[in-house]
Amino acid sequence: MQGTCNWKDCSEDRAGNSKYCWHHRAEARKNWKNSIEKKSQDRKQRYANFDRVWNKACRLAREESDKCVPTPMTVVENQDPLDDNSPLKKAWFVRSGVCGYAWLVVRPGNSSFAKWMRKNKDSRQAYHGGEHWSCPLRIQSMEIQIAYIHEFVRVLESELKDIKVYSMNRMD
Ligand SMILES: [Zn+2]
Repeated sequence: MQGTCNWKDCSEDRAGNSKYCWHHRAEARKNWKNSIEKKSQDRKQRYANFDRVWNKACRLAREESDKCVPTPMTVVENQDPLDDNSPLKKAWFVRSGVCGYAWLVVRPGNSSFAKWMRKNKDSRQAYHGGEHWSCPLRIQSMEIQIAYIHEFVRVLESELKDIKVYSMNRMD
């Protein structure tokens, strides 16, 4: 005796090893297929939105960094490197200001967006958790990179829920 169908209010015999009758086994399979299909559609939509937000962030960040005029600095080298009052050996002017790096970190690192970045945007795991993405501008000016990353972070934070984005930088 196989017992009766598990479907609510159905008293038909079960079909083979199934916990449902023939009719409801087909029904259950159809529902399962639909839920897979739905998940795949949801993922496609989510990724399309990530693409849109990323492209927007790239565009606006580029505009901000183009507007940024870094503070020039004068670098001096004293004859005695341990004594700032010793005579100058050399001095030079650096128009692009302080050199360094800027990047952002997305948390949590196991969020859908972080995984998407890893796959599509050349990001990597951050040292203290989250996903690390470096400023893509090929310039040394830290101020310009910071302007870029700040705007990028602002767009991601305003467009995407369930993640936190941090702006990071380090002098060279
Ligand atoms: Zn049934």
